[in-house]
Amino acid sequence: MAKRARFLSFVVFCLVAVLVVSWSVYPWAEAQEGPNWHKGLPKQYKSKWLVHDLKRPKPAVVTQAGPVGSAPSDAIVLFDGKDLSQWTKGNGKPAAWTVKDGYAELNHTGNIRTKKEFGDCQFHIEWRAPAEPRGVSQARGNSGIFFMGLYEVQIMDSHKNSTYADGSAASIYGQHPPLVNACRKPGEWQVYDIVFRRPRFKDGKMSEPGRFTVLHNGVLVQHNTESFGETAWRRLAKYRKALEKGPISIQDHGDRQKVAYRNIWIRELDLSGSD
Ligand code: MG
Repeated sequence: MAKRARFLSFVVFCLVAVLVVSWSVYPWAEAQEGPNWHKGLPKQYKSKWLVHDLKRPKPAVVTQAGPVGSAPSDAIVLFDGKDLSQWTKGNGKPAAWTVKDGYAELNHTGNIRTKKEFGDCQFHIEWRAPAEPRGVSQARGNSGIFFMGLYEVQIMDSHKNSTYADGSAASIYGQHPPLVNACRKPGEWQVYDIVFRRPRFKDGKMSEPGRFTVLHNGVLVQHNTESFGETAWRRLAKYRKALEKGPISIQDHGDRQKVAYRNIWIRELDLSGSD
């Protein structure tokens, strides 16, 4: 009997050991589903992976240490409220906008642009039109974000300020009005979150247009909107420069409206394969 008891104890020990090892090797979800979970399941559309494939690479972990809207861990911080060291005037000289109290303010020293160049990206920026609005239409709080230095998402005080639709806040300037006017009052901080898919070129000719998705204060205002080409005024946009990257440029419209900016960050993306 003692021999049999020892044998049974050994078997129980082995079973427990196998269970413990299995549990430690497989994350709980996989252990729950079992290593053969996806076997025999069909191949996903437009993918080399099976439906529910446990071997499919998991998304990279991105964390956000600060409050909502702060730069995530894989972002490049372009302006943290302290200095414009990531920016230049474009002629090799340092960006000369006024930096104070955690923001940078337009002071009519010209456009600024990033030293680094970007293509596909997710871009976050917070902006504020002057609390005391002056001027009307395009003369009120006019600035803009130029992706690759060429394709503008309009900055404008569109709160109770009538202007042509394709020139209002969050328009793709001169091409597409926003879906709605989500503009806050002048003097209040506002947010743009923009996904830009750069145009593609083949043999110097545009093969896939640029595209914008824009949220203005959390409201969807552009959804996968096609860019017709380089931003133009009173004429049709066209694709001219077959570039893969370019700087982010912020416009000094020269109308003495002190638009302010803070908390600017960017995530470089590769949106090849999407449309
Ligand atoms: Mg503008």
